[in-house]
Parts: sequence; structure tokens; C-alpha cells
Amino acid sequence: MQASFDTQCPFCSVQCKMRVIEEKHTDRRSTFKIEGLPNAASEGRLCVKGINAYQHALSRDRLQKPLLKTDGAFREISWEAALDVIADRFLAIQSEHGADAVGLYGGGSLTNESAYLLGKFARVALKTRYVDYNGRFCMSAAASAGVKTFGLDRGLTNPLSEVMKTECIVLAGTNIAECQPTLMPYFTKAKENGACVIVIDPRTTKTAELADIHLKVKPGTDLALANGLLKVIVEENMTDPSFIASRTNGFEEVLTYVSSLALSDIWALTGIDEADIRRAARAFGRAATGMIFTARGVEQHRDGHMAVRAFLNLILATGKIGKPGCGYGAVTGQGNGQGGREHGQKADQLPGYRLIENAEDRAYVASVWGVAPDDLPGKGVSAYEMMELVHKRDIRALLVMSSNPVVSNPNAGFVEEGLRRLDFLVVADLFLSETALMADLVLPATAFLENEGTLTNLEGRVLLRGGDRPAPGEARHDWRILSDLAARLGKKAYFPYSNAEEIFEELRVASKGGASDYFGITYARLKREEGVYWPCPDPDGPGSARLFERKFAHPDGKASFAKAVHEVPGESADEEYPLVMTNGRMLSHYLTGVQTRRSPTLLARELENVMEIHPRTAERYRIGDGELVRVASRRGSMIVRSRLTADIREDTVFVPMHWGGVQNVNNATNPLLDPFCKMPDFKTSAVRVRALNAA
Ligand code: SF4
Repeated sequence: MQASFDTQCPFCSVQCKMRVIEEKHTDRRSTFKIEGLPNAASEGRLCVKGINAYQHALSRDRLQKPLLKTDGAFREISWEAALDVIADRFLAIQSEHGADAVGLYGGGSLTNESAYLLGKFARVALKTRYVDYNGRFCMSAAASAGVKTFGLDRGLTNPLSEVMKTECIVLAGTNIAECQPTLMPYFTKAKENGACVIVIDPRTTKTAELADIHLKVKPGTDLALANGLLKVIVEENMTDPSFIASRTNGFEEVLTYVSSLALSDIWALTGIDEADIRRAARAFGRAATGMIFTARGVEQHRDGHMAVRAFLNLILATGKIGKPGCGYGAVTGQGNGQGGREHGQKADQLPGYRLIENAEDRAYVASVWGVAPDDLPGKGVSAYEMMELVHKRDIRALLVMSSNPVVSNPNAGFVEEGLRRLDFLVVADLFLSETALMADLVLPATAFLENEGTLTNLEGRVLLRGGDRPAPGEARHDWRILSDLAARLGKKAYFPYSNAEEIFEELRVASKGGASDYFGITYARLKREEGVYWPCPDPDGPGSARLFERKFAHPDGKASFAKAVHEVPGESADEEYPLVMTNGRMLSHYLTGVQTRRSPTLLARELENVMEIHPRTAERYRIGDGELVRVASRRGSMIVRSRLTADIREDTVFVPMHWGGVQNVNNATNPLLDPFCKMPDFKTSAVRVRALNAA
């Protein structure tokens, strides 16, 4: 017998659509077949993660009942008992230490409805200021740069389909071939059409193999390189003076600054020589159309916000935005990295990108929620800063939803020590993740196959994901967990939902008039149209596929240049720690690996964590290929297997981010935060390496 249902892959921001076909055999076994279905961005393609995405959802390791830890061991309890325990503990802790003694930690994989409800739950049910999420580590630098430059943060300013029409593409710190593989055909088709592809990356990744020009930059110097490109564009008259004059502010200051820079200094900083800087600048500056994409390689630094702004300066100086084949893309990693940051689970934001410290914004959202504006708490702090407050015991209880902070935060040893100091830790997840194992109480949540809801892909296109498969055991949707808990806290009237669509209906209204306006989007429309771009204020009007055609979102309608001054990376190599470690993803894993390590096929492709190291560097440290190696920074260390490759710079090693415990790269990463967006400096840690079997 056959059953099938349509859904979307949860493992990245493309949100590829698929049909899961289940063949039920007479011996009660089931086998599964996955077919890609054409939708918004994926055009029917699936990568290896998508083809195997059903495996973790059907895993026998899935949590099926709430678990309460007693005397160090988990035992199953009923939902009624679990909700009572949580409500009692939260209320007792708040009554003794104040409302802010309880914090909430969300995730960029939650549906829009659950992300919205998490923010509302924090402000209305718990009245705590402390709510933030793992997307702080994903998108915060690009988001804040977009807001400052354009007045609006949306992943892509124009549809992906326009990539194929552009003449020059800059991919800065993004490895699309492994992180969003089904997007690669857009870039290969652009190349076939004659586009020049420039890749900026310290490694020759699968994406860099596509490059006409590969700038193998030193980690942490992207901002300086972008300034070098702008200097050449200015010197060789490749700017668009009429666009600069009519549509931007602040160019003069940037012009003066970049003119004062010497390309020889930029070469010394970045490792990219003058000829290559000029070649790349001319390719972008002379092209009639061009797009720039950035991702974590540029953004996860102490100057990540300003580094993105330096790349946005290039777009503004050449007038390459607001017209076909021109624009910017922040390549989001997480499944709902875009929607996850719009609806209020960030410390400083309310739904529709409204600001919690803006009186008008507070009043509007409070009116939608049926509370007084003064009842809403104020601005909280970023994800890692919450971990610091946990450490100090200012936050005494924490609810973690769809996230694994003990693995994903920088300086993981410090974070783990903090979480052990909590009076009460609750985790809602699919599995006993590393963080869930530390919890006092664990709640079973539903997976993508079971959980209907909307997600917003990297283009800013809102998509409705089906989720018809029954959940295992007693697993509940995240939004339902929050609603049930709110009822236990005496706030049922504010959380009356019986399905995800009812929450979306409220979200539409809460976002109305905001920067990310969803008011014109409904489930019925999403079913009909297969995705709608926001902002979409009118139910009868189209969404906004290409932004900034006539004006930017700042009050005066103009975009803002920024004088971007290079900061010394958070850490530089020295005698004691002579190499720079950077990190990132592998093709077959997602985030901290909690889900993909439970997919047998995906795990089999990469069983354990590795360190990429150049053969000459490995020889210097007497490390052979495939040896266990300790990689240590000033904060901590990990043990991983060496992988020798000439694709990486000799002064750099690369360790992926998908493992916890002794293999966790974040044992060693640097928690220094960008002052604008609070993004940690994940990408430049000074390390030393040593084979475990060394004498
Ligand atoms: Fe598509 Fe991303 Fe899933 Fe691959 S991981 S199938 S690119 S959504």
C-alpha cells in the first residue's frame, strides 16, 4: 500500500519542496521514496540532505514522552505532570528572583508561527526580557548591515532567478555548493551565460571551483579586501555618479577614506595581491549588472557588521541594486533563518521587525495581543550574553526550544558550566541533544514531516509547509507546547490556538504596517501561489520580489554608505598559537548535527569531525593524514581527525561545526562579540595543533 505527502526539506534556507512516498509492505515494514517537486527556489532539485531528510524524523531515537530527571536519570512522565512541573518551577523562581530570572532560547528552524509565539510567550506569559535565539549566530551581522544601509533586512533583495541574468557575481564567505547545494545551478547557468564569478574564501571549496577569480583571503580580513576593491573602483572611474547622487548618502566620507588606503597595505593584511584585487574590482565595476552574496565567512567576526557594510558600499558605489540582475544576498543557513528573525524571538524586536524600545511599535503590538504597552518587558540581550547571565545566575531557569546552545555557542566549556548552574533547564527537541541531556525536563517536539506551518526562504518568500504525518508517541508541536504552558501559567486567554493557521492569522495582523509586512498573505493564498514575497500589505496585491527599485526603506528614501575601518581580527596567530582556525559546514550535516547525525545515510558520509590542514603545515607539525589531533585555543580544545588538503591556506585550519563533546569546534572558538549586532567572532581563533600520538 502506498501513502504520500508533500513537505519541504528542513535542512537549509532554500526550503526545497518534496513528496515523501511511503510504501507499506505486508510484513509491516515501510520503505520511503523522495521526489523533488518544483517550488519557489528549488525548481524540483534536492541535495543529499533533502533526499535523506526523512530518516531522522523516523528515527527510533525520537523522543515520544516528556522526561523528568530524578536522581540523575530520566523517567517518563505525562504531559499534565510535565506542564505542572514547569509552571510551578518558573513561577517559584520568578517570585523569588523576579520575572527576568527565567529566559527563553529559540531557534531559526522553528516555523514562523512558533517563532512568533515564542516571542509572545516571553513577553506576555512570562513577562521576561530575556529571549533570543541561535539565529544571532547566523544572520545578525547581515541583518543589522541591511537595516543600516538599506533601511530593511531581507535576505535577497531580488529573486534568485535573476542570478542567471547577471554579468558578475561575488560570493564572499559563502560555500553554497555544500550549504545550499540546490542553488548551484543558478550560478552555473549564470556562468554559462558569460558571467564572471568571484569567490572570496580561505579555502578552495566546491563553490570556489566555479570561480573565474578566487581570492583566497586570510580569515578575518574581508572588510579590508572590500575596501581595496572599492578603492580600485573609485580610482578607475567605475562608480555610478548619478545613482550615488540621487539615491545615497555618505559617499564623500567613504571616498576620502578608501582613497587614503594603500593596496600594498591591503595585500599585507589580506594576502591578496594588488593585481588580483584590481582584476576582481574591474570585473565587478565594469559589469553592467552584478550581485554580491555574503555569508558567515564575512559575518562571523568582531567586525562582521561593518564587513558586510563594506561589501554593500560596492553595490551602492556602482549602482547595482533595484534593477534586474543587480542586488545583494545574505545567504541564510538555517531552515527558517529569514522568518525566524522577523517575528519577535530576538531580544530587541517585536513581530514585523518592530522594535521593542519604540513606543509606537510597543503600543501597536500590545494592542494586537490585548495587553497594556507598559506590561511588555524591555529589551533583553543577545544569545551569548544570555549565557553570560546564566553563568552569573542572573538567569536561573531557561526554556530551550529547537536549539542546542551547549554545542552552538562559542566558548562551549563556559556555556556548559553556566547551564549546570541553572536551577531549572527545560528543553523541547526531537532528540536527547547534548543540551537536552543536561536538562531537568525534556519535552518531545514534532519534526518537519508532522508539523504544518510557514517558513520564509532566503529570498524573503513565504512558503507553506505541509506536515500530515502523525507524530510519534506524544510529541507535540512547539506552538502547542507554548500554548499549553501559557494556560498553566494562567494566560490561556492570550494563547487560544487550535492550529498553526490561527497563529498565522494573528501574526499577519501583528506584522501589518511593519517592515516585514505579512498582512496580505494567507494560508489559502500560499496554497494557491506556492509562495509570496514580503512585504505584502495587500491581500489582493502582489508581494515584493525585487526591492528598492525606486527608493530605499530609510525615511528619506536613500541608502547609506558606511566608512568601514578594518579591525584587527579577534585573535591573530602568535608563537604559542601559530595557526588560525576557521569553521563552517559540511555537505551532509546541518547545524550541531542533532538531526543529521541520526540519519544513517548522512552520518555514514561523515562519521566524525575533521580538521582540514595544508600538507606543508601538517608536515611542520608532524601530522599525517587521518590522525587524531588535538586542536587547542586559549579557551579549550577538541579532538578531531586530520584531513590533509592543499585546498586550504597554509596558515589556516578548518574544523566543521556539527559535533558536540570532545569533537566540538566551539570548545575553542572566541566569544568576542561584534558591537553592532553581537555576532561572536567564530571564524578567527588562534590555535595550536598536535597529533595525539606525538611523542
Ligand atoms: Fe534543498 Fe537545502 Fe534541503 Fe538540500 S538541504 S534539499 S538545498 S533545502
